[in-house]
Amino acid sequence: MNRFDYVKPASIAEAIAAASQPGAAYLASGTNLLDLMKGNVVRPARLVDISRLPELNRIEQLANGDVRIGALVRNADLAHHADVARDFPAVAEALLSGASAQLRNAATVGGNLLQRTRCAYFYEPASACNKRKPGTGCDALDGENSQHAVLGWSEACIATNPSDFCVPLAAFDAVVEIEGKAGKREVALEALHLLPGTTPERETVLEPGEMIVAVRLPAAARSFAKHARYLKVRERNSYAFAVVSVAAGLVIENGAIKQARLALGGVAAKPWRPREAEALLAGQPADASAFQRAADAALAGAKPSGDNAYKIPLAHNLIVRALQAAHQGTPARMPALPASPFSSVPGVLHDA
Ligand code: SF4
Repeated sequence: MNRFDYVKPASIAEAIAAASQPGAAYLASGTNLLDLMKGNVVRPARLVDISRLPELNRIEQLANGDVRIGALVRNADLAHHADVARDFPAVAEALLSGASAQLRNAATVGGNLLQRTRCAYFYEPASACNKRKPGTGCDALDGENSQHAVLGWSEACIATNPSDFCVPLAAFDAVVEIEGKAGKREVALEALHLLPGTTPERETVLEPGEMIVAVRLPAAARSFAKHARYLKVRERNSYAFAVVSVAAGLVIENGAIKQARLALGGVAAKPWRPREAEALLAGQPADASAFQRAADAALAGAKPSGDNAYKIPLAHNLIVRALQAAHQGTPARMPALPASPFSSVPGVLHDA
């Protein structure tokens, strides 16, 4: 057992001051962090418990129509929030496809954004891992890498980001509100996570002590509510991370695509937004050939990082399928197995 300080601040300002010390880490529900500590993967010298900060657990609609979601809002509460599910259905579908019911009841919005990769070598302290211990190498390169990245990877690290939630957030231009010693700032969700390059230990643009305080869904994302889906392929149909996932949204007018949004999960160290594919779809008829061309463009730069070449055609097919499902229309209620490409659109209705 490693010794650590435990601090329970009464305000965001106190929390930031406490977490700006070297070796400090924020603790919310701890659904990822505590596992990492128990496995000796991370050893924070100080835990700053922000789980009771009252100003961080609200969902509110702002005057400009944006929806502001506090960093401590639970995944389940957000997914079942009636306005969020109606206006941003792909976000709700992604949340409901993640983890288990128990974990969704505990896990927070901010924690979801900052969860660590599920690369097995990262979780095994005896393995070489540049992300866990810079300069030691990467055992995944010659190891079990069938689930690793096909986009944006480097020789230093081929891990993927495991979040479902972040995928529609990237597609629909969500904004992350951050507070730190230097004050407040905002970054696009799409710019929050970093590709590994030569520094895979640096996973986000957050500076030491900076805290995610909220995520904003822009009012404009409501335009996609009638044609938005999140599809996820996984090794079993619940409680498993994505092998590949796709968030897709369309605005259709007179049978043609006016606007398209697309993002992929499970393929890179960050949610991957192929803007070139979105641009190709705009102005096209909403048909199979347009969807195929978009998938071609989205994966033009993909290459296997190991025993994972299968992910590229899988992602291609899933992009086409997600666009088809979005075109068919957002279901009035989620299918029984949200985000499963194997559930029919009418599906068996869930009980939300
Ligand atoms: Fe570590 Fe990344 Fe290599 Fe996994 S892929 S062992 S996280 S450096």
